[in-house]
Amino acid sequence: MGEISFPVVAVASSDFADPRKLEQGLEKTLGGLGGLEAFVDRGQTVLLKPDLMWDYPGGTGPVSDLEFVAAVGRLAARRGARVLVGDSPFVLRDTIEDFWYQTGVAGVARREGFELVNFEKAGSTAMPVETAVYYISRAVKAADVVINIPRLKADLWTGFAGGLRNVLGVLPGFQKGRLYKRGFSPRSLARTLVDVFSLVRPHLTILEAPAENGLSRAGGDSPGFILASRDTVALDTVVSVVLGFDLNKMHAIRYAADAGLGIGWPEGIVVAGEKLEKVTRAIRRSVTRRTLGFVPGMALHLVEPMLWMRSVVNEDICDGCGACIEFCPTKALRVRDGSRIPSIDYTLCINCWAGLSNCPARAINLRQSRFTRRVFAV
Ligand code: SF4
Repeated sequence: MGEISFPVVAVASSDFADPRKLEQGLEKTLGGLGGLEAFVDRGQTVLLKPDLMWDYPGGTGPVSDLEFVAAVGRLAARRGARVLVGDSPFVLRDTIEDFWYQTGVAGVARREGFELVNFEKAGSTAMPVETAVYYISRAVKAADVVINIPRLKADLWTGFAGGLRNVLGVLPGFQKGRLYKRGFSPRSLARTLVDVFSLVRPHLTILEAPAENGLSRAGGDSPGFILASRDTVALDTVVSVVLGFDLNKMHAIRYAADAGLGIGWPEGIVVAGEKLEKVTRAIRRSVTRRTLGFVPGMALHLVEPMLWMRSVVNEDICDGCGACIEFCPTKALRVRDGSRIPSIDYTLCINCWAGLSNCPARAINLRQSRFTRRVFAV
C-alpha cells in the first residue's frame, strides 16, 4: 500500500523590521520544507508574485513588504536562478512603470538585480476552464517556478487575503475588477479564485504576516510570522484556523479542496516549526476582525453599473501603427473599414490593458466613471 503524504505548512516567527533577522526567519521557515533548493534549480527563471495590487509604498497597508520579497529573491538568486518580479495592479493611475516607482518595487529590483515584468505588456493567453475563459499573463506562464508571496490582510469577500486570493494578480488589467463585479458575492468570487488557481498553481507560497501591517497591529511585542507551503490550499487552511474562521464558510478553500487542488482540512496537514498557539495570538490581532463582515451582495449589485474603467483610443495622437492590435487577446481592437485608426469593441474588451501598455505613441488611455474615481481614488 502506498504511503499517505500530508502537505507541510512551515511556520516561523520573524522580525520584519530587521532585514537580516527577516532573512533568517525566512530561511528557518523554508527549512521546514527542505529549503529553497527543494523548489529552485540553477538556471531556472523564478517569478516572484508579491501583492502589489495598490500603489501604496511597499510594506504599508495592503502592499507586500518589499524587503521580504527581496529576501525571497536573494535566496533564489543564490541558487543560480534568474529572478523576475511581477504583479498586476487592481487600478492604474498612469503607467505600470510609474506604479513600480510609487510602490518602491522599482528601486528594490534595481538594487537586487531582479527583473521587473509588466504583466500587461507581456500580453495574455486565453485559458478556458469548465464555465469561463481567463486571460493569464504570458509572463506568468513563461516562468519555470512561480513563488506566490501574499501579505496577510483582511478581505471583505474572502475573509482574509492569503495564498489563493493573491493568485488573482496573474490576470492583467481591470479584468480582476470585472470578475469581482460579475459575482459580487463571496461564493462567486471564490469560484473565480479557484478557477484561476487551477490554471496557475504556484510551486511555493510564502505568506508574510507582519505584526504591523499598516491596517492594524498585533500590539505589544508580538512578532511577525512567516508561513510557507507547496500546498497553497493547506496554507490558507492553517491561516483560517489561526484566525478562527469556520472552514465551512471559507468557500475558496472548500471549492479548491473539492477540486483536488490541495488539502482543506486541518487533520490532513502537518504544521512544522513554531507552535500554532503562539502564531494565533499574534496574527489574530494583526488582522482586525472589524473589517471582516461580508458586504451584502444586493448593495453591490446596485452600484456595479457605476463602477467601470475602460481603454480609449485618442485619435489625435494615434498614428495608426497597429502595435496594439497585435497584443489584443480578444480581437476587440480592430481597424474598421475606411479608417486607419483602431477602435475598441467594448462587448469583446476584457480590460487587460495590453493595447495601452504596448502603444508606442501612448495613444491609448484609461477612462473611468466618476464613481470608480471616488472609490479607488484614481
Ligand atoms: S481592447 Fe483588447 S488589448 Fe485593449 S484592453 Fe480591451 S481586450 Fe485588452
